[in-house]
Amino acid sequence: MHELKKYWQNYINGAWVDASDKGRIAIENPATGEQIAEVARAGKADVDHAVASARRAFNSRELYSMRPVNRGAMLFEIARHMTEMADEIALAECLDNGKTLTGGKNEALAAARYFTYYGGLTDKLEGRMIPLGADYVDYTVPTPFGVSAQIVPWNFPLQIAARSVACALATANTVVLKSPELSPLSTYFIAEACHRAGVPKGAVNILCGYGHDCGASLVSHPDIDHIVFIGSVATGQSILRAAAERVIPCVMELGGKSAAILFKDADIEQAVNSTASGIFTHAGQVCSAQSRLIVPKALEDEVVERLAAKANSLSIGPGIDGHDITPVISGPQADKIEGMCRAAVQAGAEAVTGGRKAPDLPGHFIEPTIFTRLTPDMTIAREEVFGPVLSILTFEDPEEAISIANGTDYGLCAGVYTRDLATAHWAADRLVAGQVFVNEWFAGGIETPFGGMKRSGYGREKGQEALLNYVQTKNVGIRITSGGGGRPGG
Ligand code: NAD
Repeated sequence: MHELKKYWQNYINGAWVDASDKGRIAIENPATGEQIAEVARAGKADVDHAVASARRAFNSRELYSMRPVNRGAMLFEIARHMTEMADEIALAECLDNGKTLTGGKNEALAAARYFTYYGGLTDKLEGRMIPLGADYVDYTVPTPFGVSAQIVPWNFPLQIAARSVACALATANTVVLKSPELSPLSTYFIAEACHRAGVPKGAVNILCGYGHDCGASLVSHPDIDHIVFIGSVATGQSILRAAAERVIPCVMELGGKSAAILFKDADIEQAVNSTASGIFTHAGQVCSAQSRLIVPKALEDEVVERLAAKANSLSIGPGIDGHDITPVISGPQADKIEGMCRAAVQAGAEAVTGGRKAPDLPGHFIEPTIFTRLTPDMTIAREEVFGPVLSILTFEDPEEAISIANGTDYGLCAGVYTRDLATAHWAADRLVAGQVFVNEWFAGGIETPFGGMKRSGYGREKGQEALLNYVQTKNVGIRITSGGGGRPGG
């Protein structure tokens, strides 16, 4: 087994460096509460250094001038190095994030896949020619923005960072990425892979710091051109205010309270298994988690009973031991989730299972939780918990189910369980969400566009659509003759 390094530096201008004030952040293992490593704590001076490096790299036009097919080959190299380091990455992701080793390895392989997927698209992003008659040539050029500032959350830091960095490099932008202070370790492997793959110095900079300090300095920096933010609605709003000052384009991937509707003809066993995976994977710390299930009143008892049996069959414990329910990221996060569960019970909800921290475990564990006796207006049924907490609501007719599903401020994902194609299509058409899953929560992948409607944000990550967020259209109109249809003289 690999050893986890005890101290991790920031990667700026092609070199591993300490924070300019030598500050550090302690990183904790959420499964035990023990400190496992330290990372250099970037502040404003380090952000200035990273942005200046990214600016120089962009202005050098080295990435932009490369033949796109060669830029794609560079991304394939990054993927190769990520894959080679997959076991080391898995350990880091297991120890600082709480995932199982298998889950950590899957993260590493998915991150590598983002680089191959977007590497394969670098030479397929085309402009178009616009006919203006014989005296003109007019064409469009997909043009990079410049320095892309990227801020990622702690739940899937590596995959999320990989998809943003891969898109930026594929389109010849340069990057300053701030990793999440609670779980930054796996993102450093992107820097290492870029270094080994020969990515131009300064084109990718990865640093860790606190949001209010390093993150805020980055998004308000006068020399960035583009922001990609993945995190909570409240932080997204504050970043949008900073971006508005300088009219910077943003991609905003925010939270969710995603609902699936189970129709009466559904395969209940399939729906129960899919729902359990949708809400209990990574202890529910998934922006696209299926945190609500809306069932016909007549099927409520059966569905609740089966889901409760499923929840009670799951083992709780450290990811490194391969448990089903792994820890939530921190003590404050566990307190917040337990507090929301307590408030739900006070408001009249019934916790059929869970609703509290797991007793007798040293880390930050929440029992898999299922709430019933809910009304759609209750906080637990409307607000994101970001933990292993499912809300079950009931409906009498399909229109009511759609209205409950669409009745929150969010619109990230939605789902339908049915055997009837017409019902699936009818519901998918009415659900206000960026992605709709039918009969399998998380159906989709790197190739499928992902992003929110309403307060879940805008812009799309993943899929071919994502690349369009990283380029702006330039139109070039050329008058090619001084008249006469371009007939050469003499
Ligand atoms: P968060 O908003 O607290 O933090 C996200 C990142 O923003 C962190 O790196 C943090 O340091 C940084 N940050 C905090 N304040 C900042 C500021 N003022 N300026 C700049 N940066 C700042 O979110 P979190 O708790 O880390 O993540 C959980 C949230 O992220 C949930 O709401 C979840 O739904 C959402 N999320 C969304 C997606 C998606 O793709 N839609 C994916 C993962 C997580």
